[in-house]
Amino acid sequence: MHLTVLGFQSPYPGPLGATPGYLLQTEGTNLLLDCGSGVLSQLARHLPVYELDALLLSHYHHDHIADVGVLQYGLMVHQIFGQRAKDRPLPIYAPAEPAGKTESLVYREATRFYPVEEESRLTIGDVQISFLRTDHGDGDPCYAMRLDAAGKSIVYGADSGPGTDWSRFASEVDLFICEATYLERTKPAQPNGHLSVKQAAATAEKLGCRSLLLTHLFHEYREEEVRAEAGEYRHGICHVAKIGLQIEV
Ligand SMILES: [Zn+2]
Ligand SMILES: [Zn+2]
Repeated sequence: MHLTVLGFQSPYPGPLGATPGYLLQTEGTNLLLDCGSGVLSQLARHLPVYELDALLLSHYHHDHIADVGVLQYGLMVHQIFGQRAKDRPLPIYAPAEPAGKTESLVYREATRFYPVEEESRLTIGDVQISFLRTDHGDGDPCYAMRLDAAGKSIVYGADSGPGTDWSRFASEVDLFICEATYLERTKPAQPNGHLSVKQAAATAEKLGCRSLLLTHLFHEYREEEVRAEAGEYRHGICHVAKIGLQIEV
């Protein structure tokens, strides 16, 4: 599996930046995981939008869905131009709640919505996908995704606070894409559905993940500071997200 970071910043993109979006590719399958602000512009560097096979959305917070509307416009125009068949709408797999958010995922012939629950199991091309509800948000579901293909495994942890039970879902995965919203020095006193770099690093270490990608970072964090904080708790491979970073799993 080949992962490209299209966006990783939160809650809003920095200069020339983008909020979360990841391109996951295998021999025959192109998946977009989340579609934040600026992700479409970054995707254009790597893959024509009409070659996507599916979009998976973890939840409906704006930093993860902001570019869905322009993705739909792009697909519609490529259907008019003939690069993508009109009978091949892009499937969007996303939580069924809140219901008011799901309507906008169906657009002309461009996209179709398929609800996802924690028990859902998907096979898209050669990729098997399962879901775990995370400790995040204000009552609406947020789902982490586990993607398995060709004997390798990636968990995209989406947004998650310390209350998520990763033990069965992410143990010893080849790559754990884990949010690290705060540095310890910026962490709020009350947990609010996000992790610090320290918590993400310690979690990946405890789970025995073969590699870790720290993401969902504020754009003004310096990479050295993120690395230094993670390095105290994570001894295995540790990537720090940046636009265009590519990881082979
Ligand atoms: Zn969120
Ligand atoms: Zn977020």
